[in-house]
Amino acid sequence: MNHIGLDLGGTKIAGITLSQHGTVLGHQRIATPQSYPDILKACVDLIKKLNATNDTLQCVGICTPGVIDSDKGVITFSPNVTALKDMPFRDDLSSALKVPVHIANDAACFALSESKDGGGAGARIVYGVILGTGVGGALVVDQKMPSGPHRANEWGHVAFPFPDADDVPATCGCGRVGDIESYLCGPALHRQLTEKLGRSITNDELVAGINANDAAIMGVMQRYATRLAKALAMLITIVDPDVIVLGGGVSNLDIIYKLVPPLIGKYTLSPVVKTKIVKAAHGDDSGLRGAAWL
Ligand SMILES: [Zn+2]
Repeated sequence: MNHIGLDLGGTKIAGITLSQHGTVLGHQRIATPQSYPDILKACVDLIKKLNATNDTLQCVGICTPGVIDSDKGVITFSPNVTALKDMPFRDDLSSALKVPVHIANDAACFALSESKDGGGAGARIVYGVILGTGVGGALVVDQKMPSGPHRANEWGHVAFPFPDADDVPATCGCGRVGDIESYLCGPALHRQLTEKLGRSITNDELVAGINANDAAIMGVMQRYATRLAKALAMLITIVDPDVIVLGGGVSNLDIIYKLVPPLIGKYTLSPVVKTKIVKAAHGDDSGLRGAAWL
């Protein structure tokens, strides 16, 4: 049986077909239409294309950013695809395709993908962290997502722990002040770099500065690493995962994996930390792969 997943974003809808062993059998990508009926029709057409072998479809998985009411199958908050808000998307798609449809947010799909056959493969308790435009998180245990009443797992939207005098609170994407996301998202790192350097720099300049051991840039990275270590220490103290997999733009900076792990034990109860901090194996494809695994 093949697995079909869609990643439904504000600008594009991407689709993937995976074999039961995780081999990519097909990829599709289209622009996201504006209206709800057009989005629904585009998803149905895309899934039919992805099911080129005319397998009997068992189910379909959808990954989308936002907050999903999994009891009702409704997306209650969608930052990028506003036409989906409060529409019965799961049931409408399921009626059109005549198969069950599962929806989860992008962090959950990322964590599932990485726990199946990525950075957390073989581990029991995997926590996926996204350090991108926003900060997301999701827990996977035995390759399954525990389903609490909120399916929340919003690690990025709790108060930043163990603040020092120079950890000045900023406004978070959710509107509150001082959440973890406001310190650790990609735009926050760039804001910290701009404050230190007196000008904004590109990602390429950042990587070049790290490789050249530039003192100012490394100072910012050291501060960022300490903040990330504090936030991960809190996560480890409560959730105790075997592996934390990092994804999103900031996770591509290899310096993170050198600087952060030795700092975490300063903020956990036991100084010996066994949780591994690893980079995502499937990069940008992880959300899509996770949707297929749903
Ligand atoms: Zn927040």
